[in-house]
This record gives sequence, C-alpha cells and structure tokens, in this order.
Amino acid sequence: MEPVELQERAWIEVDLSALEANLRLLQKMAKGEVIPVLKADAYGHGALPLARFLEGKGVGRFAVATLAEGRALREGGVKGEVLLLGSLHPLEAEAALRWGLTPTLSTLEAAQALAARARALGLTPRAHLKVDTGMNRVGFPWEKAKDALLAVEALGIRVEGVYTHLATAGEDEAFVEVQRSRFQRVREALGEGYFYHLENSHGLLLHGGENVRVGLALYGLIPGFSLKPILRLLARPTLVKQLGPGDRVGYGGEYVARGGEWLLTLPVGYADGLPRGAVRFVKGPEGGLYPVAGRISMDQTTVLSPGPLPLEAVLEVLSPDFGPTGLCAWAEARGTIPYEVAVHLSRRFPRVYRYGEEVWEVLN
Ligand SMILES: *Cc1c(COP(=O)(O)O)cnc(C)c1O
Repeated sequence: MEPVELQERAWIEVDLSALEANLRLLQKMAKGEVIPVLKADAYGHGALPLARFLEGKGVGRFAVATLAEGRALREGGVKGEVLLLGSLHPLEAEAALRWGLTPTLSTLEAAQALAARARALGLTPRAHLKVDTGMNRVGFPWEKAKDALLAVEALGIRVEGVYTHLATAGEDEAFVEVQRSRFQRVREALGEGYFYHLENSHGLLLHGGENVRVGLALYGLIPGFSLKPILRLLARPTLVKQLGPGDRVGYGGEYVARGGEWLLTLPVGYADGLPRGAVRFVKGPEGGLYPVAGRISMDQTTVLSPGPLPLEAVLEVLSPDFGPTGLCAWAEARGTIPYEVAVHLSRRFPRVYRYGEEVWEVLN
C-alpha cells in the first residue's frame, strides 16, 4: 500500500485495516472473547486511536497496565470495560473507582482498600481476580483461589472476571499445560458466573483458547500465522550528498567512504526507537534496500543510496512486514523481543491512522 504523504520530514503510519484483519483472524481462532491489550500505548502503536477504532468495530473490553493508561482512554471517550492488568495497589483504589476502571486484585489489602473507598464514594466496587498458576508474579495462589474469592466477595466487591497468565507460551509448552490444567481446576472450584480468561498471543496461536488477552498478535508482530504488522515509519532525507574517498561518516567515523557513494541523512535515530547497531537497512522509494552507513545517532541516521534523491523523497525506515526492515528483524539483530522494540517507538512523530485509502485520524 502506498504511504500517505504528510508535509513532514518523518512520521508514523498505522494501518487500521490490517489491525482489523488481525483482530478478525484472532477472533476466529478464539472460542470466546478477544480482549485487546493496549498497555504501553498499545505497544507503541497509540492506545487511544486504536481503542476508539476497535470500539467502533464492536470490541467492548480492553486491558491496560496502569491507571494513567486507563484514565487516558476514559478521557478520550472510550466507553467499554477497561481492565487494569497487574495487581492493584491499595493507594490506587480511589482513582480506579473514580475513572470507572476495573482493577485486578491479587492481594486482600487491595481488596479491602477498594471496598473501603467504594463505600466512601457510594460506588459499587467491581474487579477481576488474578490467580497465580505458576508465574509467581501476581495473583492469589491457585490452590487458594476459592478462599480468596469468598474473602473478596465478603467485602462486597463484585468479582466479574477471574484470570491467570501464562509464563512460558511459545517456550515451554509442557508448563503451559500445567498452568492450563491448574486454571481448569480453579474454574471448577469457583463455578460458572465469572468471566474466565487465560491465553496471551502465543498461548492462543499455539494452543487455541476461549477468552484471551492479546497484544503482540494484534499488532501483527508474530510471523507465520497470516498476521500482518500494522505500523511503518517513514522519513525524508534532510541532506543528500556524495562522499569523497576517505570521508568518514558519523560518530567514531566508523564508515569510511571509497568515494562516490551517495549519502542520505534521515531525521530519525535511537531516541525514536531505532535500536542502535540493529537497524541495517532502510527501504528506498522504489523498494530497494539502502544500507545504514556509520552509527545511528540519537536523532539522525545516515544511509547509502544508489544515486541522488530529492529531499521530498520518502523512505521506509520501518516496514509493516517481516523482512530486513521490519520490527522483528530489528529485535532479532538486537538480541531482544519485538515487545521491547515496539514499546520504544517514538511518541515524537506525527502519526497517521489510515483505514484502507482513507485517512482516519492524524495526531500531530
Ligand atoms: C501483556 C499481557 C498480555 C498480552 O500479551 P501478548 O503476549 O502481547 O499477547 C496478556 N495478559 C497479561 C496479564 C499481560 O500483562
């Protein structure tokens, strides 16, 4: 798809039709509900525009990590349930209630604070109960889930959902089965009448699932399942020049010119989320791969082009695919996971949200 051209030197474009296609694919795989996980600004993709778009496509429940993330969705007009993942801190109880956010409880202290604040405010406390089935991070121990539920309900809290989180999906499938069977036993002990949810992206893709919370797969950052990345980063050169023999480029002078190469300076750098040392190419206007020459700076990157280009030319720094200019290639070259690269994508670029050929929203 041709990029939308902004009157800017660098910008991010998010393809909402690809997001919708990923959502529909995941909804087909899940036997129950797909809850989009929009924490960390939707893994760098922009939580509010995505939530608004998904709400328009019938999604009624979202998950975020922090109170501030939940509040931003509410302030932006998102009406659906907003589940706060992680364990509610007692100090956050009042704000969660005031903003109509659904906290996750994994301690009695937080439950008591939630009940007390709700009483003082005249609000009904609602929550999901987190059960620890083997990750040992948050959650009531699975063997004591029934006691925890009774104790929380005795405080007057309406427990609407019960969930657990997989520690090893995509890494240790035998342990996934251990966690799944523990959660099944929790479910049998607690009975129906609660919204149970379990799998994350890799859990759903590799094992199937009923009600699932998905982030990475929704953003299309897992190869091999017909999912498609939804984000690209575009930039125009701010300087185009030909190098002389022996010219050195950038910090450390690491690239030494043979002479005659064309060099483009792009206004994007590691402060924008380009992992230093891991971005090897960008895509030229005709789709050719232009190698990065020299080190990536904080705000600028130099690349070699086969010839001169006008300053209006648009290059694709990050591509919505799994090739050498895709986010998964960056993560692999960096020795990290796509999650970490995605969440560091810069907030300082203007962003175009497009749906097919239509520009849906521009954030500047
Ligand atoms: C982040 C998170 C998810 C989503 O994980 P993905 O691997 O991106 O699908 C699901 N559940 C919880 C509790 C999370 O923290």
